[in-house]
Amino acid sequence: MDSQTSVPATTWTAELGTLPKRDLWTAMKRGWRCRCPNCGKGKLFRAFLKTADSCSECGQDFTHHRADDLPAYLVIVVVGHIVVPVGLWVETNYAPPIAWQLAAYLPFTLIASLALLQPIKGTVVGLQWALRMHGFDTDTSLDKPAAAAAAE
Ligand SMILES: [Zn+2]
Repeated sequence: MDSQTSVPATTWTAELGTLPKRDLWTAMKRGWRCRCPNCGKGKLFRAFLKTADSCSECGQDFTHHRADDLPAYLVIVVVGHIVVPVGLWVETNYAPPIAWQLAAYLPFTLIASLALLQPIKGTVVGLQWALRMHGFDTDTSLDKPAAAAAAE
């Protein structure tokens, strides 16, 4: 590599590797509560699944998150691992009419999926923020020392 080659700002460098460590579990818990992963006070969402552009309390930019379809996949995994075993167990042991089973499983699946989607998306955004994924690695102005974040 010659000395004229420029390095994009998002490329890992030794300097970026020494940035203060962000507490993963604190950020994910704050995301689960739909709060800013940085300060835990500002709202993460401006609509059901639309993240705010930035935190109203600390100014953390949320536009860098790339949760994409991961929250939906995780909701399917969690809800599916509840509904399918219960359905199999009920069918094996009691065999109630199909209409009764659908009347129970379909509303439960819908409500559980809607209830979990926002917290799981918040958790994914918190994870991305804590691991400095995507554009979250470059904004260090709001970082607190790791010891202060862990003490909360
Ligand atoms: Zn904040």
